[in-house]
Amino acid sequence: MKIALLSRNRRLYSSRRLIEAAEERGHEVKVIDVLRCYMNIASAKPSVHLEGDPLIGFDAVIPRIGASVTAYGTAVIRQFEMMGVYPLIESVALSRSRDKLRALQLLSRKGIGLPITGFANKPGDSKDLIKMVGGAPLVIKLLEGTQGIGVVLAETNKAAESVIEAFMGVHANILVQEFIKEAGGSDIRCLVVGGKVVAAMRRQAPEGEFRSNLHRGGSASLVKITPEERATAVSAAKILGLSVAGVDLLRSERGPLVMEVNSSPGLEGIESASGKNVAGIIIDYLEKNAKPGRTATRGKG
Ligand code: ADP
Repeated sequence: MKIALLSRNRRLYSSRRLIEAAEERGHEVKVIDVLRCYMNIASAKPSVHLEGDPLIGFDAVIPRIGASVTAYGTAVIRQFEMMGVYPLIESVALSRSRDKLRALQLLSRKGIGLPITGFANKPGDSKDLIKMVGGAPLVIKLLEGTQGIGVVLAETNKAAESVIEAFMGVHANILVQEFIKEAGGSDIRCLVVGGKVVAAMRRQAPEGEFRSNLHRGGSASLVKITPEERATAVSAAKILGLSVAGVDLLRSERGPLVMEVNSSPGLEGIESASGKNVAGIIIDYLEKNAKPGRTATRGKG
């Protein structure tokens, strides 16, 4: 196969591993920075160009699109879809997963377990918003945050009110969420490929911290997940239309709750914690599925 890896940095662990796994299997990989691609959208014959030449002859694209380039990256994937190239992650699925509000609404509609969550833009009444999600302790999150930055635990209603008002003051979009205390500062990352959980790890926050992000000093270890957790992770990926996803779960008294579904999951933590060749599993999945024109949406989204 000839594979386009849409990544801005070929040296990142995940990009490197995908290139390695593909080349080991005899495939050719071209790393493409989506921001340098340009497209003629008014053409009857859709194409993507880079540095003066059309990108042709590809069997598959693997999007590894950073959060800050989601909109343009999605457009480039959509263009490839219109050309009949098979995307590992479809444009529509990528947009769904990147919009936290949209993703949680889609999951809730299908009955997936979620922490009680409120969204707000400019709540005229932060007291009522707090009451609506069951009162303190609450987790307040900046919608644009990643790696645990902008995730705050408010232990009292008063503190929650101050934090909400502070975020409102800087015009940030926020999410207010029930604090799952019994998760004990840990979460479970399930790596789903082609409708199966192929690897899982438990991330544990350091002492005195509730956020288990590895970037915040959390540690990862191998975990055995329950059938219910497995089924929840697989359903969450399916609902968003993702063939590859990192589904983050919190273990609660009422069963697994989905916190987030990541469409460009990092491979480093999960490969080292699980000892699995996740990059290889992803390329194997592509080998089976990357047939011309086999995109569910074909750029319709
Ligand atoms: P980010 O997307 O920035 O990583 P998350 O929403 O994943 O932010 O939150 C970061 C961490 O905080 C999670 O990995 C989890 O350990 C903890 N956390 C987030 N939401 C909750 C919650 N509702 N209850 C308990 N812990 C939470």
